Amino acid sequence: MTAAPTAAERLMREMSAHHWIANDYVAGAGARSPIVNPATGETIAEFAHATASEIDKAIEASTRAQREWWAMSALDRANAMHRVADRMVEMSRTTGEVLTREMGKPFRESNWEGGASASSFRYYAEIARNEQGRVAGPAIAGQLHMVVKEPLGTIVSIVPFNFPILLFGWQAAAALAAGNAVIVKPSELTPLTLLALMQAFDHLPAGLVQVVTGGAEVGQMLVAHEHTHGIAFTGSVPAAQAVARAASQRFKPALIEASGNDPFIVMPSAPMDAAVRGAAFAAFLNCGQVCTSAERFYVHEDVCDVFVSGLAAMAKSLRVGSGLDKVDVGPMASVRERDRVEKIVARALEQGAKVVTGGKRPAHLSAGAFFEPTVLEVSHDMDIMHGECFGPLAPVCKVRDLDEAIARANDSQLGLGANIYTEDLAEAFRAVNEIETGIVWVNTPLNDNDAIPFGGRKFTGAGRELGAEGLEQFRRSKMVMIAPTAQPDPEWFPYPDGDAFNA
Ligand code: NAD
Repeated sequence: MTAAPTAAERLMREMSAHHWIANDYVAGAGARSPIVNPATGETIAEFAHATASEIDKAIEASTRAQREWWAMSALDRANAMHRVADRMVEMSRTTGEVLTREMGKPFRESNWEGGASASSFRYYAEIARNEQGRVAGPAIAGQLHMVVKEPLGTIVSIVPFNFPILLFGWQAAAALAAGNAVIVKPSELTPLTLLALMQAFDHLPAGLVQVVTGGAEVGQMLVAHEHTHGIAFTGSVPAAQAVARAASQRFKPALIEASGNDPFIVMPSAPMDAAVRGAAFAAFLNCGQVCTSAERFYVHEDVCDVFVSGLAAMAKSLRVGSGLDKVDVGPMASVRERDRVEKIVARALEQGAKVVTGGKRPAHLSAGAFFEPTVLEVSHDMDIMHGECFGPLAPVCKVRDLDEAIARANDSQLGLGANIYTEDLAEAFRAVNEIETGIVWVNTPLNDNDAIPFGGRKFTGAGRELGAEGLEQFRRSKMVMIAPTAQPDPEWFPYPDGDAFNA
């Protein structure tokens, strides 16, 4: 007997091939593509590719809604955003189940996203009403000189599959708090999660937050559209470059959060048990599909053997399976992603890497996009250390000392995060000061904080999410000067003859 569908499954069927336009689920008129559960290989729904006229409709609605939103008091906007946060928490089990069915991550992680995303709505609800510009010392006595912060208008948010609720939330909370409307284009792998989440926004002006689904072509139409005004992109480097190019045609500000290949340094002063457990979490969380996953391990030669055997034991102990079961690690988000990771491992082996554990599909799971948590012994010159693996791989390279570890860490085209495990304060200070990334974690991998900016250097991107910096991404400055009365200025015409060159 087949089990009755859950509420989330029923919702997924209703939302299949729909967009969320002007606070309503609207059946898409364009071509359709399947959505596949990566744990089973079954097609569970479809998504529609938005047409140009659907995009025009969404943008008309967002233009109206944004005016209404900005005309409200800052306090009313803040209260409406707190209500969004409350709803996101209430709905978190449902959106979490949809997310696990779409992209496979363990339910605990999917359910966590709702609350974590809600937290950024609460943070931005408050900081946006705290200030909306500043008053400068006047350059002309008696006048009021200030900068007023205004919204950009309609923001296009383009998000990846790995943390759809969280990453949409980081962008949308800041953009809404700054007074903008948001149109989000979800990943082809996770459209239903964001469509389900829209029920948390249905008390806002119709069209203030909308979802249009589709592939890169839909993202491009939104970015290029005459009536969208700012871009917030999270995803891979080639897609980021295409988005930044399109945005530059109309000089639209573009926040770009692209790939990472974060180093993870382990020094002898680190307690080995904590370092190993931190390493396993940083490498294998979400099957390694985290932009800030630890992608390259540089371990001091005095502790490398004990670290590798501890990490391998930890990797072997992780339960791999459907994200709806009692597991630690789910499948990769798609078979295509799993095949890509298999190729990375094959190339590493060709270049002389040694598999300590894993390196293959789990024998007990015949269907689905599963891959075993894998520990490899490698050298720094192998390809695996110079790109983003974005899978459950932990390649470990032995280093002589901290100098070599930092040099290796900095030998990268990407610069998102970096980890070091050490209890030597001088080593921690050196890592913070010398590693060329946007984030450095000392003994506390993968964590973030709504109140401080998140983002990277080099090809990882430009701009910052979270913190006061994240709000500024979605505001423009207006210079305002007010003279209390309309008096003639002594600088005006006619010029005195005595100021002429030939006076
Ligand atoms: P992706 O680049 O394939 O897709 C991301 C989004 O961009 C999707 O919605 C996709 O449809 C859209 N897109 C793709 N090409 C486009 C184009 N030419 N024009 C407009 N839109 C386009 O990325 P993915 O596979 O979904 O996600 C994984 C990547 O995201 C990894 O590289 C990861 O590091 C990165 N990521 C970065 C951060 C960060 O904060 N820096 C966070 C999460 C994920």
